Amino acid sequence: MTTYDKKEVREKLNIDLVFQLLEEWGGNPMYMDYGIISDTICHNPPGEGSRKLYYYKNTGLFHCYTGCAEPSFDPFELLIKVARIQWDKEYDLNAAVRYIAIKFGLAGYSELEEQDSLVDWKTFDAYDRLQDFEVKDYHVVLKPYDINILTRLNYKVRIKPWEDEGITREAMRNAVIGYFPPTAQITIPHFDPSGNFVGLRGRTLVKEDAERYGKYRPMVINRKQYNRPLGMNLYNLNNSKDNIKKTGIAIVFESEKSTLHYQSFFGIDNDISVACCGSNISMYQVQQLLDYDAHEMVIAFDRQWQEKNDEEYKHWIKNLEKLNDRYKNDISVSIIYDRDMLTGYKDSPIDLTKEIFLKLFKSRVRL
Ligand SMILES: [Zn+2]
Repeated sequence: MTTYDKKEVREKLNIDLVFQLLEEWGGNPMYMDYGIISDTICHNPPGEGSRKLYYYKNTGLFHCYTGCAEPSFDPFELLIKVARIQWDKEYDLNAAVRYIAIKFGLAGYSELEEQDSLVDWKTFDAYDRLQDFEVKDYHVVLKPYDINILTRLNYKVRIKPWEDEGITREAMRNAVIGYFPPTAQITIPHFDPSGNFVGLRGRTLVKEDAERYGKYRPMVINRKQYNRPLGMNLYNLNNSKDNIKKTGIAIVFESEKSTLHYQSFFGIDNDISVACCGSNISMYQVQQLLDYDAHEMVIAFDRQWQEKNDEEYKHWIKNLEKLNDRYKNDISVSIIYDRDMLTGYKDSPIDLTKEIFLKLFKSRVRL
């Protein structure tokens, strides 16, 4: 029986991954000096708790300052609690470690492959059941933010780096892309399919910040964080929903910027693009596509691999297989696969030219 080494996985589970988990589980996390503050999803369903769940980066432990009988616990124990409250699942510690190791690829893929043949069915079963949901009726309505905050941003500054990459000013205007000088961030508002303002992300132009915090961060203006679990909404569906309904096809990119590229190449009137904002597509997002009668979901993720069969390649393929398996009964899934390596390492398929994108699109594959 192969189990994951808890210590190893925990060491690799850095603060940004913990943040991502909290975001996915509906904790509305926010970075603080000491670590992260979150809603008490440890003993409440999302949206009902208070902001009394603290994560301390120096110890790697959570502390719940209200409600939990045993107030101190690690991320695996939080997963066990969340699974019980939100998914009605009982996880043991091994299953929790396994879930996180697989989710973030923390144990290295050679180990994962070995495990496929040495399956520990009992823990595997718990993991599998989590995937086994009906996509139908995963509707969420996010509470909108006050849209007036957008009037405080600067729309006069020309976003030269993006223009240089071929994104038109019209596409940026259409997406209400702005600039927030205090933090030197390009601002990207998120709207739900009905056009309600539900989130604001900033893409930093300062190199050190990008390295320290990642390229995209939720925006903080006047101490208020405009942050949503990204997996709850598909970016740009408010613009592309009618065309998706007409054509039945939706192209899912990783980043917001790729949808702007798409509009720049093919015109806002022909837009069928959305962004899932990461390399996962949630059931909520697939539900949104189904709501607009999409029958094909074209996954157009970044080429996060350098050569065929390297470790990243295996990870990349595995992630797509997982998404395909999860959703193929609800929607036809196809994948843009750059077999001839026309794009560069870490490029989105739409980063270069219209012709290259069309070529990749036309030769998309089904798993
Ligand atoms: Zn608690």
